[in-house]
Amino acid sequence: MNIAIVGYGRMGHEVEAAALKLGHEVTARIDHAQPLDAAALNGADVAIEFTRPDVAPDVLKQLAGLGIDVASGTTGWSDDASVVQQVREAFTAAGRGLVVAPNFSLGVALFTRLVAEAARLADAVDDYDVHVHEAHHRHKIDAPSGTARQLIDTLLGGLRRKTSWSLDLSQAPLDPSVLQVAVTRSGEISGTHTIALEGPDDRIVLTHEARSRGGFARGAIEAAAWVRGRRGLFTLDEWLRERFAQ
Ligand code: NAD
Repeated sequence: MNIAIVGYGRMGHEVEAAALKLGHEVTARIDHAQPLDAAALNGADVAIEFTRPDVAPDVLKQLAGLGIDVASGTTGWSDDASVVQQVREAFTAAGRGLVVAPNFSLGVALFTRLVAEAARLADAVDDYDVHVHEAHHRHKIDAPSGTARQLIDTLLGGLRRKTSWSLDLSQAPLDPSVLQVAVTRSGEISGTHTIALEGPDDRIVLTHEARSRGGFARGAIEAAAWVRGRRGLFTLDEWLRERFAQ
């Protein structure tokens, strides 16, 4: 595949290294000082976008206008449903495909499925309180992370006794229906997500710890290959349903 990297920061460099290892060509490395036009894409078949939450929707609409399929990994922009709808419409109108994922790691996808099963089972055992903790490097802009938000949705969907989530500890006593979420930002920590089930006699802890950013890059490349030739906006779930059924 000929790949255009859009956003040549930490993840852009990871995608480049993984793409070369997997035998793909990187035809363009586009960062924010460069114009985003057909010449810049330099004959790419697909674009992989890791930029910033504040610019991602416009960058994606521009890419749709240039008629290229895209895998987008930027987190923190897809909370606003009307923004997502505008981006979806741009890709549908252009007849191009976009796959969006807050976390492209297959390991995290497995982890999310394990957390869903833990929530389903813990729903029948009232004794366990549940919390989420995530830690990342100090440069990360959004908090909680996109992956943590995905895990929070999974837990709220499976555990009927938790109806909302919060980072706020100022209210005493803590409302047991609120899923407590804690965030750490420090140094160069690579993404760590923990779900703990705290019982009266024991605790069950599920942790996913990324050892490098390579897993995100490989997943993004695989998802980019999958989205080629599709039309509209897809989530990682749609790709993974096929991936895990294999
Ligand atoms: P980074 O700051 O190292 O890189 C972002 C790059 O985007 C910078 O080089 C910046 O100059 C560039 N940029 C800014 N505006 C641009 C524009 N308009 N056009 C082109 N390039 C532009 O950040 P990072 O660590 O690479 O992370 C990028 C995003 O990816 C963040 O939102 C992060 O949370 C997310 N992320 C997602 C996954 C995943 O698997 N989905 C994994 C890791 C990080």
